[in-house]
Amino acid sequence: MEYPLITLYESLYKSFGPQHWWPARTKFEIIAGAILTQQTTWKNVEKAIENLRKEHLLSVKNLGEAPLRKIEKLVRPVGYYRQKSKHLKGVSAYLLKHCRGDLNKFFRKETKTLRKELLMLRGIGKETADSILLYAGEKRVFVIDAYTRRVLQRLNLLVENDYDKIRRFFEKNLPKNIKIYREFHALLVKLGKEFCKRKPLCQSCPVLKEGLCPGKL
Ligand code: SF4
Repeated sequence: MEYPLITLYESLYKSFGPQHWWPARTKFEIIAGAILTQQTTWKNVEKAIENLRKEHLLSVKNLGEAPLRKIEKLVRPVGYYRQKSKHLKGVSAYLLKHCRGDLNKFFRKETKTLRKELLMLRGIGKETADSILLYAGEKRVFVIDAYTRRVLQRLNLLVENDYDKIRRFFEKNLPKNIKIYREFHALLVKLGKEFCKRKPLCQSCPVLKEGLCPGKL
């Protein structure tokens, strides 16, 4: 890397501004959104979240006690709704059992312990667990997703395509600042969605203009 990683962050922030992630009202809404957003668009997640909200199911207790069929109907817009409903119920049941649904208490634990616990639950992989830790738990963990991998690869920064190695790369090379972690992840998603697409739009990409990427040859 010929420039510090923070330079990329600063350049993206200058170009795109704050992304206001995670768009949710409560910690539990973040958890639900992180599960529902797998393999679908955020627009669909918003519809499902709104349906859950109308039925007062955006709380650990209410969702954990709601009938599965009801949840399935409400989260249908996100696809794989049967699976995701089970996952939502499973996570809620776990939180009810282990902290009586008190998320402040749950997130008081050490990051490593929490990550392990979350990864044991069905429907929560590394990206989902880390999103929950960073945005709901306010833990300093970098989230890696497909956009981040693609951008890194094109910037010639992807040494190994391994989730935890990439996560540690960010954590090692960034200031230990949770705000930067949150914003940087959101900015990378924005870059991946709008410019660094499968067919990249290098000519209009702000990263190319700033001289931070050679562009895709
Ligand atoms: S210049 Fe092209 S390859 Fe580089 S980040 Fe921008 S869109 Fe991606």
